[in-house]
Amino acid sequence: MLWLTTMPVGAPKAEDLAPWACHSARTRGRRHPEADAPTRTAFQRDRDRIVHSTAFRRLVYKTQVFLNHEGDLFRTRLTHSLEVAQLGRSMARALGLNEDLVEAIALAHDLGHTPFGHAGQDALNACMAGHGGFEHNLQSLRVVDHLEQRYPQYDGLNLCFETREGILKHCSRANAERLEALEPGGVARRFLDRTQPGLEAQLCNLADEIAYNAHDIDDGVRSGLLSLDQLDDVPLFDHHRRDTLADFPGLQGRRLLYETIRRMLSAQIYDVIEATQAALQAAEPDSVNAVRRLPPLLRFSPAMRESSSALKRFLFANLYRHPQVVETTGQAQTVVRELFDAYLNDPSQLKPGSTGQPSGPRAVADYIAGMTDRFAAREHARLTGRQMLG
Ligand code: MG
Repeated sequence: MLWLTTMPVGAPKAEDLAPWACHSARTRGRRHPEADAPTRTAFQRDRDRIVHSTAFRRLVYKTQVFLNHEGDLFRTRLTHSLEVAQLGRSMARALGLNEDLVEAIALAHDLGHTPFGHAGQDALNACMAGHGGFEHNLQSLRVVDHLEQRYPQYDGLNLCFETREGILKHCSRANAERLEALEPGGVARRFLDRTQPGLEAQLCNLADEIAYNAHDIDDGVRSGLLSLDQLDDVPLFDHHRRDTLADFPGLQGRRLLYETIRRMLSAQIYDVIEATQAALQAAEPDSVNAVRRLPPLLRFSPAMRESSSALKRFLFANLYRHPQVVETTGQAQTVVRELFDAYLNDPSQLKPGSTGQPSGPRAVADYIAGMTDRFAAREHARLTGRQMLG
């Protein structure tokens, strides 16, 4: 333990990154200036702030595809975010990118999701029509910029520009104009200029897609809504299942499923690394600002892009639109809609026990969006007297 007491507390070790990476020492900074931390880089600090946030802890009880009460082993938003971070970090390392930034973006990318997955978001968006709408990416940024209240000097987590840039993955033109007016030259600017974010942000988008395509097959089969035979229709899955069976004849059931998914994941990761390395070699960006002006460089090969799209189409047709999923989706939308109406009609029901809270449609949307699945169901039962969803 001697080193613990003798190790000097100095500046964090310089990062050994490629020129196209986001170097923490060159961050565009925080909205409220802060002194550097003695032992952590700016992006490590962002990652730590996200892990300690309230919104992050709530992800454990938020639906990814299967509602939280449907089973203990399905992915939740939390385990999904951890898988995105794992896949993202392993690609980042091979590409000379900033792993800490990738991890921060990946862990925060779904913080703005409503309870009940996309059903909840669609219902809340419909409730907010005429009040600026509701969009989960924008909400993730709102969580880290405003809604987390943990620091004495400011609202939000005061994250670095590059982390916020990665969190705001999509943005409508109208929302981008509104954000740009509040923060000129800020994270929304690229949606007006049609430029790209840094490679770490681009990487998280692909890691997200790779993660959910793979784990939704796993959860789909686990739930019984998808069968292994149906997956014959998915070329990427079928290819790796045949390869697996060539190596392990007679393998079946969950071990066959896991090994096939493992090989699919590896093939996609290596494909992204190879295709992106080729794009980087051709474009030779010498900085993250050069990256931002170029077309997206983080990519699948054209063949893997098609394979991934085919897998996504399969999941849409056979899992996300499965009658059983659609039925719970309908119930989830009713819960969100009725919660929204109840709070709007009687703001005293909003965060009972607290005073001086903001009211109005946006405050109601923020409150509902922050709920876990089970809290939303409990609140709905309390306010309407009807028990739905677990
Ligand atoms: Mg995601």
